[in-house]
Amino acid sequence: MTGSDKQILYAFLNAAEDSLDGHRKARPAAEFRDDPAPGSPSCPETGRFASLGEVERAVMGCSACPLAAARTLTVPGEGPQDSRNARVLVVGEGPGADEDASGRPFVGKAGQLLDRMLGAIGLSRQENCYITNVVKCRPPDNREPQPEEASACRPFLEAQIGLLRPTLILALGRTASQSLLSTSEGITSLRGTWREYRGIPVLPTYHPSALLRNEGLKRPAWEDLKEFRARLDSLAGV
Ligand code: SF4
Repeated sequence: MTGSDKQILYAFLNAAEDSLDGHRKARPAAEFRDDPAPGSPSCPETGRFASLGEVERAVMGCSACPLAAARTLTVPGEGPQDSRNARVLVVGEGPGADEDASGRPFVGKAGQLLDRMLGAIGLSRQENCYITNVVKCRPPDNREPQPEEASACRPFLEAQIGLLRPTLILALGRTASQSLLSTSEGITSLRGTWREYRGIPVLPTYHPSALLRNEGLKRPAWEDLKEFRARLDSLAGV
């Protein structure tokens, strides 16, 4: 709600109260501000953290969901810490065994494929792209995160997005896409179609693990990446 809407509502309620009481009451001047835009630096989730480093430290100490019990290391995310450099955010599902052991996202076989895919369109976690997951702790046996685990971890992802304010988001696989976009649509229909997360364009595509299991998905995934690069070029050079 905007500050002026709040002011109008406040005046209306005061007038109604005065009318019921039969006299006009003196009240201190009230100041109203616009609600913060979600994902903006003043969004409550973002406001809890001053930097990505703070988010990472909070993740390391988090035990807000059952995934904390079995993890070796938390996997907050990796990439440039400065929003001027990290113009792209890549969101996956959750850490696997290699990530759980190293504390770094996408370092196993799927991660190496992801690095090659990103490299092919001029992106890398060293220079211009921050990589994270919906949940920051490994789900046992690489199962999908439960909805309550994803929602417990959501404030961290929201804060990362708010602090980075990426130009574009690449959502890897069904879980990340559905979670970010709050939809139950399947990845087959989501992939390659531009969606939005709080004003930021999001392109869902296949998870690199799916590409390792099914070679036939590599071609459509490559088409998605080329589309992603073209949109990025049209918005701002990375
Ligand atoms: Fe906390 Fe997220 Fe790990 Fe759950 S998955 S313990 S919410 S950091």
